[in-house]
Amino acid sequence: MRIVLLGPPGAGKGTQASAIVKKYNIPHISTGDIFRANIKEGTALGVQAKEYMDKGLLVPDELVVSIVKDRLTKEDCKNGFLLDGFPRTVNQAEALDVELNAMGIKLDGVVNIEADSQILIERAIGRRICKECGATYHIKFNPPKFEGLCDNDKTPLFQRDDDIEETVATRIKVYENQTQPLIEYYDKKGLILNVDGIKPIDEVFNIIVKALEK
Ligand code: ADP
Ligand code: ADP
Repeated sequence: MRIVLLGPPGAGKGTQASAIVKKYNIPHISTGDIFRANIKEGTALGVQAKEYMDKGLLVPDELVVSIVKDRLTKEDCKNGFLLDGFPRTVNQAEALDVELNAMGIKLDGVVNIEADSQILIERAIGRRICKECGATYHIKFNPPKFEGLCDNDKTPLFQRDDDIEETVATRIKVYENQTQPLIEYYDKKGLILNVDGIKPIDEVFNIIVKALEK
């Protein structure tokens, strides 16, 4: 299964991605996670990316595309992959098409998770993540068993630097201007699977699986 997950910040891409990759046994490729890991390790890429991420802006295409191209050639992508948060611009989508063509493979579907901006802001602001294992929680909608601690490894949870209201609002605008055109881009290729992201986490997952297996 070769899947792209599209959707505004806070729509539930990362949450659904974790469940989808478990079901289909494919790697989860999140460009946001790759950048956050680089920031944590203090790499040159991390330093460059942080400047944009903290403002809620997209990291320049040149920095993102080569990372994804490289990742797709790894052995574990042979039987499929899930791209979460990539592509985010038409330019990135075109670069992905070129790469997939060169590899002689095609996407099976582009899952577009939809939710309105009021919900997105509430979700992003209440999001808490585990720096150790990457698990995502929500203080209200998906709380950990013990307050403030990861269920998997008991690591203290933290709030992403870009999950403050003002930055989330910028990210939603950036999504509308730069990423939303991808819905039409992939719709023309007959790949778009629209999913109502307002429903509870389990329900959204069931809808996605049904859509992918149709
Ligand atoms: P994205 O990767 O699209 O930015 P996340 O998967 O990180 O979104 O979800 C954003 C926040 O909303 C997280 O705190 C997550 O726990 C919560 N969340 C995700 N999906 C749902 C849902 N269907 N209903 C309620 N809360 C959700
Ligand atoms: P969300 O889906 O909640 O916006 P992500 O973790 O996917 O969160 O992305 C966080 C930030 O990382 C983005 O706001 C952007 O600065 C950067 N980023 C992630 N993926 C890309 C991409 N494909 N192109 C450009 N910037 C990206």
